[in-house]
Amino acid sequence: MTTSSLEFLTVRNLTKKYSTGHLAVNEVSLTVTRGQCLGLVGESGSGKSTLARCILMLERFDRGEIWLDQIPLHSLFHRELRRVQRKMQVVFQNPAASLNSKLKIIDSLMEPLDCQPEAQPFFLKGIRDQRRQAAEALLDMVCLSHKYLDSYPHELSGGQKQRVTIARAISVEPALIVLDEPTASLDVSVQARVLNLLKDLQQQLKLTYFFISHDLSAVNFMSHHMMVMHNGCVVDRCQRDSLFSEERNPYTQQLLHIFES
Ligand code: ADP
Ligand code: MG
Repeated sequence: MTTSSLEFLTVRNLTKKYSTGHLAVNEVSLTVTRGQCLGLVGESGSGKSTLARCILMLERFDRGEIWLDQIPLHSLFHRELRRVQRKMQVVFQNPAASLNSKLKIIDSLMEPLDCQPEAQPFFLKGIRDQRRQAAEALLDMVCLSHKYLDSYPHELSGGQKQRVTIARAISVEPALIVLDEPTASLDVSVQARVLNLLKDLQQQLKLTYFFISHDLSAVNFMSHHMMVMHNGCVVDRCQRDSLFSEERNPYTQQLLHIFES
């Protein structure tokens, strides 16, 4: 079976059991429409990051299919997979862990472009091969001063570091960005600004997002469609805003209560 061209990412019956015997992802299916954002909400330990790592093909899984832009990732061999994996980028929760502390910001930022000479993002037209100019243009896109290019990660705040990892993720014009709790480690005042930035970039660059968070309002703000995960299973699905307005599955209601209290 294949997928339609509107279905940009399709996951079917994905199941992942760790060697400890823990069933972290249990028969999960999902679809992300091209240019949209699918939000995934769930408590800590519900299997969100495991699912994300499987989608990125960073984790082996036991059963299921993953299709990206009609390409069956689950049946690709190593070299082909590496090529397709380049279409996907990820932003993790902890920007400090995502940036090499020994590298200047410019070198961390430019790593994907340095490794992918074939990438020609439209927003770097004419400056793709002028490394410093390209790096400055990327910092402009995330509203960060050029002066940080020669800094080291410890000289930047958490929010600034996350802006760098976001700039790095968009740098190769990826088709899909997986955002795994991208604001969870940031101060509350910074979280909203980073979410606004992510949303603006999505519209500007027509990106497709898979956005993961335990914060229901963040997921609602970011996503066109949402799903709720509990103990490795998808227990609820809905469209933006109906999370708060419609009769929901009992577990989702429980999450809403925890969130409101
Ligand atoms: P979430 O991102 O929703 O917090 P995770 O995907 O990180 O959830 O974890 C889901 C479950 O799988 C948890 O019970 C966690 O302890 C377990 N788990 C995560 N990573 C591993 C691993 N490498 N080995 C064994 N169990 C793991
Ligand atoms: Mg997680």
